[in-house]
Amino acid sequence: MSTKNEQLFLQAKKHIPGGVNSPVRAFAGVGGTPIFIQRANGSKIYDTEDNAYIDYVGSWGPMILGHAYPPVIEAVKQAAEDGLSFGAPTPFETTIADKICEIVPSIELVRMTNSGTEATMSAIRVARGYTGRDKIVKFEGCYHGHSDSLLVKAGSGMLDIGEPTSKGVPADFAKHTLTLPYNDIDALTACFEKFGDELACIILEPIAGNMNMIIPSNEFHNTLRELCTKHGVVLIFDEVMTGFRVGLGGAQAHFGIDPDMTTFGKIIGAGLPVGAFGGKREIMECVAPLGGVYQAGTLSGNPLAMRAGIAMFKSLTVDGFYEALSDKVSYLLEGFHKAAEKHGIAIRSNHLGGMFGIFFTEGDTPQNFDEMTKCDANKFATFFHGMLEEGIYLAPSAFEAAFMSSEHTQQDLDATIAAADKVFAKMVD
Ligand SMILES: *Cc1c(COP(=O)(O)O)cnc(C)c1O
Repeated sequence: MSTKNEQLFLQAKKHIPGGVNSPVRAFAGVGGTPIFIQRANGSKIYDTEDNAYIDYVGSWGPMILGHAYPPVIEAVKQAAEDGLSFGAPTPFETTIADKICEIVPSIELVRMTNSGTEATMSAIRVARGYTGRDKIVKFEGCYHGHSDSLLVKAGSGMLDIGEPTSKGVPADFAKHTLTLPYNDIDALTACFEKFGDELACIILEPIAGNMNMIIPSNEFHNTLRELCTKHGVVLIFDEVMTGFRVGLGGAQAHFGIDPDMTTFGKIIGAGLPVGAFGGKREIMECVAPLGGVYQAGTLSGNPLAMRAGIAMFKSLTVDGFYEALSDKVSYLLEGFHKAAEKHGIAIRSNHLGGMFGIFFTEGDTPQNFDEMTKCDANKFATFFHGMLEEGIYLAPSAFEAAFMSSEHTQQDLDATIAAADKVFAKMVD
């Protein structure tokens, strides 16, 4: 929109591939020029010309307490004064591990990493080491970071071997990854009948947040848990997005399922680069130095990130935190639905805790990747740019969920609904 952003994007492209350090930031999904951010505070982000935007991306989830939340910033400042990294144990790592295990009962041992990608990659290695099996199962539309085994889609037949979704991933790696349709009990059962005793693990987003937001059925989760237990397959919940986001206990608390392993990222670092994987003691005891599965990190358990995380958990564990967050989401979505209806625009939505998704479709709320891709991506792009012009920052892709923070005010929500009303009106013109 502004020529300043265009100019900055041009400069960025000179020495950064595509001008960005993560592809979705380039606005390829919606067209146009990304906004370059200078700073952020509370519910708002500001571009280099100090234009404010009410932010529903929140750095893709971590900023559940809003941007530059004072207790977190204070903790990071104090930590910085004490030194940035030691490559040796700190008491802060123990505090975070204790906190995670206390909040999430399925986790008995937990190891910190530097990103969600590292967490899922390591969890899969542990599951393979623990079971002595190679094959893994993932679901269509679920994203687990960019490690080789996980950049895989289904082959031509439903139970065929996987094909890489990225160049540079050897077919020899991809062949160990089976991909199933999400939220599909029949496909799951068929897969276990054929391969049950060869599978090391099943990894999934227990609520999908990388194909907009899709909440699978209880029955799907129950079947998954039963089949994994029966066949000795490690069930990995990738809660990098949903952890401490859809509720304090994550998606596993919502569904009442105890996965064997869980991965985290995003929120647990309060905005600093962090991930974690953990689970049952018996499985996690396979990790070095206790066991033979190697996993390491020079900066893992970084004191700034740990101390930021500790400060953040103080706020998340306050009674009523998630109820308040969820109320804000409900209020916003109710406003969106009313405005859409008024202008005759069909939208559907999903939400839980501080996470939500909006679909442009006249059909039912999507239940899997196929249905999600049938939603109107052009309408979304128009909506996205319309909202951006009104000072509302949504994820620049119809495939992404949206996030609420505790710092979004009533005024923010009303301004967002008013903007949506205006944009919907233009969309029918
Ligand atoms: C973001 C995300 C990842 C990857 O985390 P990074 O920190 O970007 O490596 C993995 N799994 C899920 C579910 C995610 O949303």
